[in-house]
Amino acid sequence: MSRPLIVQKYGGTSVGTLERIENVANRIVKARKTDVDIVVVVSAMAGETDKLLKMARSLSPNPTRREIDLLLSSGERISAALLALALQARNIPALSMTGRQIGLQTDNTHTRARIQNIDAKRARKMLDENHVIVVAGFQGINPEGDVTTLGRGGSDTSAVALAVALGAEQCEIYTDVDGVYTTDPRIVPQARRLDVVSYDEMLEMASLGAKVLQIRCVEFAHKYQMPLIVKSSFTEGDKGTLICEEDPNMEQPVVSGIMCDKNQAKITLKEVPDQPGIAANIFEALATASISVDMIIQNTSEQGHTDLSFTLAREELEEAMVIMNKVAKKIHAAQVSSDAKIAKISIVGAGMRSHSGVAAQIFKTLSANNINILMISTSEIKVSCIVEQKHSKLAVTTLHEAFELSKSIVKKKTPTKTKKK
Ligand code: ASP
Ligand code: MG
Repeated sequence: MSRPLIVQKYGGTSVGTLERIENVANRIVKARKTDVDIVVVVSAMAGETDKLLKMARSLSPNPTRREIDLLLSSGERISAALLALALQARNIPALSMTGRQIGLQTDNTHTRARIQNIDAKRARKMLDENHVIVVAGFQGINPEGDVTTLGRGGSDTSAVALAVALGAEQCEIYTDVDGVYTTDPRIVPQARRLDVVSYDEMLEMASLGAKVLQIRCVEFAHKYQMPLIVKSSFTEGDKGTLICEEDPNMEQPVVSGIMCDKNQAKITLKEVPDQPGIAANIFEALATASISVDMIIQNTSEQGHTDLSFTLAREELEEAMVIMNKVAKKIHAAQVSSDAKIAKISIVGAGMRSHSGVAAQIFKTLSANNINILMISTSEIKVSCIVEQKHSKLAVTTLHEAFELSKSIVKKKTPTKTKKK
């Protein structure tokens, strides 16, 4: 019978120097003492991937994706081999493996490949022979046998996929923060580490810009119900944050976290003719250029004209404005304007499914602080508001206070009474 297996993933800062690699090796030595099998997945040393990308771009203005993949995959190979050496020096039978060696097969989409299968036979055999396997994250091979990578931050996804393929008990993600917080502690010092976050909440948070986990990693974990634990590799004995399915026996806090995304911009088309096909014209032109739009607002029409606004990622604003100026001429809109000084404040909480009044409380809090809301959008477990960027810190701080997020409020649900027999 094989022992329980744990997958541990160490991010770029955790393996950022030789000293830190030694620290990781010491942690693994300790974890081995608890009689578990361990598969380690590593990122490239901090800054390495960017450095390699910069080198590529300095040689070629438009580097091919195939070559980029081979180049970038080397960053993770370096940290995997170094960590395996550090473990061997501690008398741990460790072996480093590339994506190909671990059997991670992907599709053909260079630089953002999707995992298709993991042939874990060799890994299983090595575990049974008592090895610690150190896997270079972020990479696989396509059907042609060429190296592919999984998109920035992709080592998280490698780790979860391996955990699923090898039937691990859990996947531990070690990083430079000790868990997922109610909001960015650099903005609100009272921010609190969350003990538990549901997959749905984490997905919303990741798509709203929480850098702590790659979105695909959370999707994968959700799909295969693999518990994730986010912890710091720099501290001992922390619980970290557990990301798992919602527990029906626990009362959900109404709001779990507040996110602030300043990387947003807004475009407004003024006096657009209010006719069928206008929105299609605008958004088709953006879709053709692969520009994703987030929120959309159309005002009520006056004398056959309406104003239409939408938000998008700030780095796509310039390109979108060129396109919109063309579209505006075609559809006879009076004017196109843009605003890059906005921020999206989002309030996320699985408890919103069963509680009303969250939106009202948000609007009340913002208005009490004289913060004007420019746009609003909602989903089942999220409310987002666009505000002027200069108000973002005040908005996050006062909402954090209004929802009492610095206090821990998760409690056990009172058990539903069963009929006395
Ligand atoms: N090294 C890659 C990156 O910087 C992958 C990862 O760290 O997960 O995006
Ligand atoms: Mg990362």
